[in-house]
Amino acid sequence: MEPEAMPRPAALIDRQGLQALIDALADEGYRVLGPMRRDDAIVYDDLAGIDELPAGWTERQEAGRYRLERRDDAALFGYAVGPHSWKRFLHPPVETLWTAHRDEHGLTFRAPEPAEERFAFLGVRACELHAIAIQDRVFLDGPYVDAGYAARRREAFIVAVNCGEAGGTCFCVSMQTGPRAEAGFDLALTELLDAERHDFLVEVGSAAGAALLERLPHRPAGEADREAAATVVARTASRMGRRLETDGLKALLQDNPEHPRWDDVAERCLTCGNCTMACPTCFCTTVEDHSDLSGTSAERVRQWDSCFTLDFSYLHAGSVRQTPRGRYRQWMTHKLASWIDQFGTSGCVGCGRCITWCPVGIDITEEAAAIRATAPDWRDD
Ligand code: SF4
Ligand code: SF4
Repeated sequence: MEPEAMPRPAALIDRQGLQALIDALADEGYRVLGPMRRDDAIVYDDLAGIDELPAGWTERQEAGRYRLERRDDAALFGYAVGPHSWKRFLHPPVETLWTAHRDEHGLTFRAPEPAEERFAFLGVRACELHAIAIQDRVFLDGPYVDAGYAARRREAFIVAVNCGEAGGTCFCVSMQTGPRAEAGFDLALTELLDAERHDFLVEVGSAAGAALLERLPHRPAGEADREAAATVVARTASRMGRRLETDGLKALLQDNPEHPRWDDVAERCLTCGNCTMACPTCFCTTVEDHSDLSGTSAERVRQWDSCFTLDFSYLHAGSVRQTPRGRYRQWMTHKLASWIDQFGTSGCVGCGRCITWCPVGIDITEEAAAIRATAPDWRDD
């Protein structure tokens, strides 16, 4: 791929500038979250400074395999995506929906106040920006807005990072979701690292981003800097670990519910739900009601759930999707086909997490290709 020009206003900051960015966000009252190395993985958590970033680390990802490795440079963002996604903050795994309390005056229901917390995400990749946009559609569009998500999302400040490394299971290029951050950020960084320098090209994506950049020590970016940044992204795009052919994919899956490949994958699938937990767009939940033994208080708690569990589709006479075949088919067909009917886009952004974190290495791109190769007939949309 030819390097593309980067047309947005751009500036350069160095490592101290990046620390100043974190400090400025913290000064403005944001809870700054970013990547760090923990438990042999790169995860997202509270970030106080650049010393906590995984400097000099990268990862090797394959189906069912994730290993950290040392790089031969000191890149701060020299890896793709790990097991965490930003949904764990915007759409938390456990959330109280309401509480109820009974006293001598009767029964009182209360919805929790929206959290005051303002998140600043540092290191959001292009595919993750698309995943956030997909969850925005789910939680914010339509007649039923999720108040907690809306409050967290409205306040979030997003610092994207253009990918300098493609993961072994990434396929954002074929989903047209990366590796360059195009929209949905306040600032976007491209790490420029060679023997001469360690800088970050900063692109501005919002008025809030422009105002923050003014507070940082920075210098103007020249044409050579923009070209260097474009080359980083183009190199990453040329090194995608995987590809998903999307032409006619919706019709292919929806027209082949009885394809024998569903039996094949069902023999391997453990229905563990790891793919749905790691996926940055999966949003399904269940609710649990808890009450105390005295009967004076109760709460309803929402938790992430997975379409791979039997309980998820349990109706009065049992589970709708009894078999692993039915559950895997439901997940993949929803992700890549009926999601388009519901929300207007694919439910997959090509991050590769479901492939890497599947304990038996089931690969959504491989499954789609296998169905395409042997489907008796299918047509384009
Ligand atoms: S596809 Fe893999 S990760 Fe997903 S439920 Fe099956 S075994 Fe678990
Ligand atoms: S389906 Fe897999 S590759 Fe697609 S967004 Fe979800 S985790 Fe990423």
